[in-house]
Amino acid sequence: MSDTATSPGAPLFDRVAIVGIGLIGSSLARALSHYGVARHVVCADRSAAHCAKAMELGIVERATTNLGEALDSADLVILATPVGSFAEVGELIGPHLRPGAIVTDVGSVKQAVLRDIGPHIPDGVHLIPGHPVAGTEHSGPEAGFATLFDGRWCILTPPPGAHKDAVEKVTELWRRLGSTVEIMDANHHDRVLAITSHLPHLIAYTIVGTASDLEDDTKSEVIKFSAGGFRDFTRIAASDPVMWRDVFLNNREAVLEILQRFTEDLTALQRAIRWGEGDQLQDHFTKTRAIRRGIIDAKQA
Ligand code: NAP
Repeated sequence: MSDTATSPGAPLFDRVAIVGIGLIGSSLARALSHYGVARHVVCADRSAAHCAKAMELGIVERATTNLGEALDSADLVILATPVGSFAEVGELIGPHLRPGAIVTDVGSVKQAVLRDIGPHIPDGVHLIPGHPVAGTEHSGPEAGFATLFDGRWCILTPPPGAHKDAVEKVTELWRRLGSTVEIMDANHHDRVLAITSHLPHLIAYTIVGTASDLEDDTKSEVIKFSAGGFRDFTRIAASDPVMWRDVFLNNREAVLEILQRFTEDLTALQRAIRWGEGDQLQDHFTKTRAIRRGIIDAKQA
């Protein structure tokens, strides 16, 4: 692989190929150029319309619906398609990866990456999975922006025995985009994200679904008085349906486990309300308020 001893301002990669030019892929394309991390950025996407839009926006040098063609002499390949597409994408790109190249991804679950892409990675190519903990509820190439990852965490989950220089290079890439990098085991990642991201999305999808099933007269009140808390849930529940379908299907065990605990806690609160146990409710709400303050102190609000 190429030398990692790059000077602070010099591009880290010569040619980066991004597969999937949606919100995250297009934010990366913009950021890689904006922060001078790559000399050339090209992309591939199954959507011809998204390829055309990426060219029109001027965020890539070349865009193609042919995944293999995009990989031509890339020293870094970033997979930014939904997690459920990884097995298919892996099969398509595998034969086109050049020795010494690094493959990374941005998928929201990590054990599935090793399972679905791992078998397609040839000897001499380095797979370093990653997950930028940053995003919005929007999708597609127009939704991206260069500073999306600035001040955010990026979690890398290199498999045991991963090439050290490749891990360092991917770490440096995210640092240059303004992220703080944490390295952890893929299994641990999936359990942590089940509570911090996956469960909150499931709850939001549920509440908004419940509201949409209400009688018409109540439903109009829901929209009118949405600032009472509901509005924040609707933003989360507007997140990409395909992406979230794939997250739940590919992090099934961790999500079901945390959902079980959540259900037990919800039942305890339900019981406290039924029996008028105000102290218990107040104690609980006081504890959760402290967590919010911790997030603000950590500048993740
Ligand atoms: P997105 O805006 O919907 O973009 C995904 C792109 O990939 C679309 O252009 C899509 O085309 C294309 N695509 C889908 N399947 C493909 C395939 N088999 N081959 C080639 N292209 C394909 O999604 P996103 O929000 O950027 O998410 C991308 C990845 O980032 C996901 O793995 C997600 O888990 C991860 N992630 C997302 C967020 C977030 O907040 N959104 C945050 C962190 C990580 P079509 O439109 O034709 O399907």
